[in-house]
Amino acid sequence: MQMNRRKGLAAMFATAMIAIVGLSALAMAQGPPAAPFMTHQLKPNVYWVEGGGGNSGVIVGDKGVIVIDAKTTAAGGKELLDNIAKITPKPVTTVILTHSDADHVNGLASFPAGVKVIAQENNKKEQETALAAGGRGAPPADHLPSQVISKDKETLKIEGVKLEFHHWAPAHTSGDLIIYMPSEKIVFAGDIIAGGKTADPLIHLEKHGSSEGWITTVKGIVALNADEFVEGHGDVLTKADIQKRLADAEAKRAKIKDLVAQGKSLDEIRTAVGDPPPAAPGGGGRGPGFPSFTTVVYQELTKKTA
Ligand SMILES: [Zn+2]
Repeated sequence: MQMNRRKGLAAMFATAMIAIVGLSALAMAQGPPAAPFMTHQLKPNVYWVEGGGGNSGVIVGDKGVIVIDAKTTAAGGKELLDNIAKITPKPVTTVILTHSDADHVNGLASFPAGVKVIAQENNKKEQETALAAGGRGAPPADHLPSQVISKDKETLKIEGVKLEFHHWAPAHTSGDLIIYMPSEKIVFAGDIIAGGKTADPLIHLEKHGSSEGWITTVKGIVALNADEFVEGHGDVLTKADIQKRLADAEAKRAKIKDLVAQGKSLDEIRTAVGDPPPAAPGGGGRGPGFPSFTTVVYQELTKKTA
C-alpha cells in the first residue's frame, strides 16, 4: 500500500513534469507569453491596444471603426473586438495591416465577414504565399486584403478620417505600410519600429526586407509632421526616440560595412559591434525568423559583394 502510494505519487509527479515540460516547450514554440490586453487613448477618437500580439490602433470614425493590425490568434482578435466594444458601439468596418506577420494579421479570423482589409500590395502577395504553404501560421483565407495600396503615398478618407499611407522601400518586410494621421500627428509604424527606444531594427530577409530600405523608411517616418509614434511592439515613442534609433542603426550598419570590407567574419563583426553571443542557431536574434541586425547586414553585404 505504502509502496503503491509512493509509486502513484511518483507517477503523478512524472505526469506533472511531462505536462510542465510540454507546456513550456509549447510556450517557447509560440514565443513569449502574450501580454494582457490594455487600451491606451492618444486622442479623443484614437487609441492603441497592446497585448495578444502586435500593438493595434483603433480609430473611431463617423459611422464605423478603423482598426490597424488584428492580433495573433482568433481568440486575440475576439478580445480586441471586445475591447473596442468597450470604447464605442460603432462597428468595425475597416482593418489596415502594417505588414503580413501572423501576430498582426491572423486575429482577423474573428472579424466580421466582409470587413474591408487594406494592405500594401506585397503584403497581400506574402499572405497568399503563406496561405499556399499552409500550416499553423497561415493567415485566415477569408480575410485576405480586399484593397491594396500600390503607390508610395496614398491619401484616403475613411469613416471621415484622413489617413496617409506610406511605403518608401522594403524594410521589415517587402510589404510594409506606414499609417500617418496628419491632423492628429500620429504615426502607426508597425514593426519598422519595435522593441522600444534602443532596439536594433528587425528585418525579415525571407520576406525581402532590407536594412538599407529600413533606413530609407525611418528617414521618411522622421520627416512626417508627427509627435506620437505607435510601434509594433512596445510603448509609444517620440520623434527624438525615432531619430535616436535611426542614428544608432545607421552607425551600426556603417561599422558592419567597414568590417565586411576588411574581410572580417560574422563572429568577429558580432564581437566588434558588441552584440550578445547568439542565443540560438542562426541567432543573436529575437526569436525564430529574426536573425540579428548584424547577421542581416552581413548577409546582405556579402551576397552583394560575392
Ligand atoms: Zn513583424
